[in-house]
Parts: sequence; C-alpha cells; structure tokens
Amino acid sequence: MKKAGPPPIERLAIRAPNHLGELLLALPALQAACEKERRETGTAPVVQVVSWLVPLVAMADLDARLLPLSDRRDIAAAARELRTYGVRRGILLTPSVSSALIFRAAGLTARRGTGGGGRGWLLTDVVDRAPLLEDHRVKEFLAIADLPVPEGEPPAPRLAAIDAARAAWSERRRAERIPPDGRRLVALFPGANGTARRWPVDKYAALARSLAGFGHRVLVLGGPEDRPVTEAVVGRALTDDGTLEGSVLDLGGRTSLVELAGALDACHLLVTNDTGPMHVAAALDRPIVAVEGPADVRQTRPLATRVRLVGRFDLPCVPCVKNECPRGGRGTILESAERECLRLVTVDEVLEASLASLEEAST
Ligand code: SF4
Repeated sequence: MKKAGPPPIERLAIRAPNHLGELLLALPALQAACEKERRETGTAPVVQVVSWLVPLVAMADLDARLLPLSDRRDIAAAARELRTYGVRRGILLTPSVSSALIFRAAGLTARRGTGGGGRGWLLTDVVDRAPLLEDHRVKEFLAIADLPVPEGEPPAPRLAAIDAARAAWSERRRAERIPPDGRRLVALFPGANGTARRWPVDKYAALARSLAGFGHRVLVLGGPEDRPVTEAVVGRALTDDGTLEGSVLDLGGRTSLVELAGALDACHLLVTNDTGPMHVAAALDRPIVAVEGPADVRQTRPLATRVRLVGRFDLPCVPCVKNECPRGGRGTILESAERECLRLVTVDEVLEASLASLEEAST
C-alpha cells in the first residue's frame, strides 16, 4: 500500500499596512511571523503590500515573498494573484474591508484580523482591538499576528538592508549639489497628514534659521504633497542678505522613498512632526526630536535609542488623535483653542532639544 505523504502545506499570507508609519510599526510582527512560519512549516509567507511601499519592506529583508498590490481596490485581481501561491491562511495587519474581501475571495480558509468597520463577518478569527489600544502599536500588531507580546518596552522596528538607500542618497546629494564639507546635516520634516499634526511653518522656519546659524546644514524634506509647506519653510527661513543661501535647502518632493531613507540615515538629527518618516528614522536608529500634538505617544512614539519628544502633554484635550483640530473658541492657555497643542510648543524648546541631541550624538 502506498504510504500517505505529509499533508500539503497551507501557505500563509500577510497583508501589510498601507501607510508608511503603520508599516514601520508592523515590522517586528512581520519579521517574527515570517521567522515563525519558516520554523514551523519550512516555507516563507507571502506578504501582500501596496506597490509604493515595496522598496521600504525590501529594506527590512524579510524572509518572505513580496507581492506588490498596484490597485488595492481591484479585489478580483489581488485574490487571483494570491491563489497562484497556494495560500490558505491569512493575517490582516490592515483594518480595511477590502483587504478582508481579498482574502475571502482568494479562498483562504483561515482569516485573522481586527473586526472593526463591519468586517467581522469576513474573518474566521476576530481579534478584539479594544484592549490593545492602551499600549504601543507595535504590540498591537504582534497580538493581531498571534505572536507573543512582551511586557514593557516593545521590540523596535529596524531596517537593516540599506545599502541601496545609501547609494541612492549619494546620487541625489550629488544631483542637489550638497557638498560633503563636514557640516552636520539636520533634516526637518514639516509636513504631516492633516493640519492638526503640523507644527506651524513660521516656527519651523525660525528653527531652520537658528540651526543654520549654529553652522549646520538644514535639509527640509517632504513628499510631493508637502511641497507648499517645505517651500514656505525655506522661503521664510532664508535671510534677505543671502547669508543662509545653501544652508537651508528645500528637498520637498525631490526624493524617492528610497532616497528619503538614505537621507535620514545620513542626517545627524531629524526634527519632525508625528509622521511616517519619523518612524523611518527610528527604524534606522537615528536621533529624533518629535514635535508631538494630537498623537497618542503611548501608541506611536518613535522607537529609536535617542528620541526627544516635545509637546504639551498637560493639555486636557491631548491626545485627541485627530488630523483636524475639533476645538474652537477660547483656548486653555491661548486666546484661541484651535491647534493649541502645537501652537504652544516654542521654537526655543525645539531648538534646545535639537542642540542637546546634536551634542549627545557628537560625544
Ligand atoms: S489642540 Fe487639542 S483638540 Fe486640537 S488638535 Fe491639539 S490635541 Fe487635538
């Protein structure tokens, strides 16, 4: 009689988050899930990720087959592609209904994820998100992926495969004519999703002027959508007599994601709003000064070795976790309440934290 062979391996699919910051915070879960899968089944999972974030995931060097999603709303095409990999089990690190629909349409028999947004019926294993909201998002992703969640500090996301990013930044730096003259590079990231999360442009401009006055070269970074903000910061930072020309540079919309990672790796400090690039810098373990407003720092503080958080954590409305400030009328301290959390943060506070970080980095 013919001996029965081992049961067919039911390959695992993991859907990575669609947003830069969330993806970075999910990296420890992605890495641990891939390692576990390799250990237990001898196979690498399939990680489905929106196309523009593939270069970033590549820097994490996961033991996984990356499956780029060019159109995440094309459920039939995404499901068809998953089927070709013989995937039968799935973990969703996204909260969307469409990602759950893709897993169901692909015929996955086990589908695990959070059940909010009315998608519980699409899952076979619903994770209750409520108890996870008090702690860091990294831990939330570990719990969603059914992995052990440590007590205390969460594991830090890290990007290790960054040779290509460094080479890309070298090229970009040459193209932008930024000389390697020994001046320290300080990156500013004044954009953010939503006006409530942006420290005012004038304050970034004053900070850029002061940092340049201390002899540092200031690179104002941003994506294409941040260009009006980076232009405004640099325009207001430059002095009329041209003395800061070449010391404060507008790189808004001028770097690819890979170049941006390379730039952050090369900089001696990043001063930023609560943004995805803040988490990229953290995953590269660069010094960070984060200007925090409505974000909940318990959940999304950057996990790097040298981080300074500046914010008005004493205000009763902090954290509201909104992208647009819902307050009106008189503020707690200022005349008007709108975006009071960030308007109260002074240039002196952020400059002091920046100079302390730079000083620490040089010792
Ligand atoms: S001032 Fe308060 S309510 Fe307005 S964005 Fe800041 S934390 Fe939210």
